[in-house]
Amino acid sequence: MTIAVEQGSGDDFPQDFSECERTDLEAAATRLGLPAFRGRQLFQWIHQKDVSTFSAMTDLPADLRARLETLATISEPAIDSRQVSSDGTTKFLLRLADGRRIEAVYIPDTPNQTFCVSTQVGCAMACGFCLTGKMGLVRHLTAGEIAVQVRVLARETGLRTSAFNIVLMGMGEPLHNYDATMKALRMLADDHGLAVPPRRVTLSTVGLIPALKRLAGEAVMPNLAISLHATTNDQRDALVPLNRKYPIEQLMDVCREFPLRRRGRITFEYVLLDGINDTAEDARRLVRLLEGIPGKVNLLPLNEAEGIPFRRPSDDRVNAFAKILADGGVTVSVRKSRGRDIRAACGQLLVTASPPAALPPPRP
Ligand code: SAH
Repeated sequence: MTIAVEQGSGDDFPQDFSECERTDLEAAATRLGLPAFRGRQLFQWIHQKDVSTFSAMTDLPADLRARLETLATISEPAIDSRQVSSDGTTKFLLRLADGRRIEAVYIPDTPNQTFCVSTQVGCAMACGFCLTGKMGLVRHLTAGEIAVQVRVLARETGLRTSAFNIVLMGMGEPLHNYDATMKALRMLADDHGLAVPPRRVTLSTVGLIPALKRLAGEAVMPNLAISLHATTNDQRDALVPLNRKYPIEQLMDVCREFPLRRRGRITFEYVLLDGINDTAEDARRLVRLLEGIPGKVNLLPLNEAEGIPFRRPSDDRVNAFAKILADGGVTVSVRKSRGRDIRAACGQLLVTASPPAALPPPRP
């Protein structure tokens, strides 16, 4: 007996088109014996027109649509819940195909519309003040799982055709999941998709040095934010364990050499912990550390949470710290915590790593 294998259904034919860059879909089209532009159309349907069923792709021949339905899927997370903060910030709990859950946050009017997306389920970096860090790393997200958060947020907020910013500041360390993150950024930047310009994307990292060096050579280059949080190695070793491997001076050297867009600057995030890293001496050291680096500082007064052994400093202390930076010639802003009432603020994204709630109960 011979088994007919349909052309295109081989091992390397993409099973999930959500994971495909435009060029992957063009190659898939070619493998089906179709012109490459069919792949481009597919990419447009998925990313620009936000359609995730083949049957709705009306400019594709009906027989092709039927064939694609047997060959591939266009996966999407389910929205398990959505919480709206008093300030309009909306946190989406998304359930992935394997039942794992991640959070993605819409932050309105800052003054831009911003989508904060996750790159991992949990995080391996274990920063002492971050709830996601307490989860540990459950798994990396795929490129499709990163990019689709933007599609879902854009759809749910009605902003698909407006300009919005993307910050890779949700759960996870983007540079620890380098390839998937970069692939997702290419998918999002594609002119045939959402066409989000890289200057509207900010990647935030604790500073994985080899990955930062790789990032410096990328064609699609997001803005860079470095989670610095401390000015001495002793202090940073305690707060950001990765510092023991990649100490501050090495991180600063990489920042100094990092290629920036015209008038571009690196953002240095600095979480303020009462009595720990918020003294006048810390502020003065921070000024000295940033000398010669085109940067700005974004102060994040700690978002407190149960299980986090630090306190948020008073507004007076925050302002005094900011003033020393400003007087030292450093551009400084204080991040307004958005969505604290729904635990959508920085460092508060946490989902239980337990098995998916949606699985059917075990049979008796
Ligand atoms: N892993 C990346 C991306 C996360 S971005 C990174 O660390 O940069 C989230 C930002 O919020 C980081 O700067 C992080 O240090 C900060 N953050 C974490 N916990 C926080 C908390 N409890 N309060 C305020 N900011 C916090």
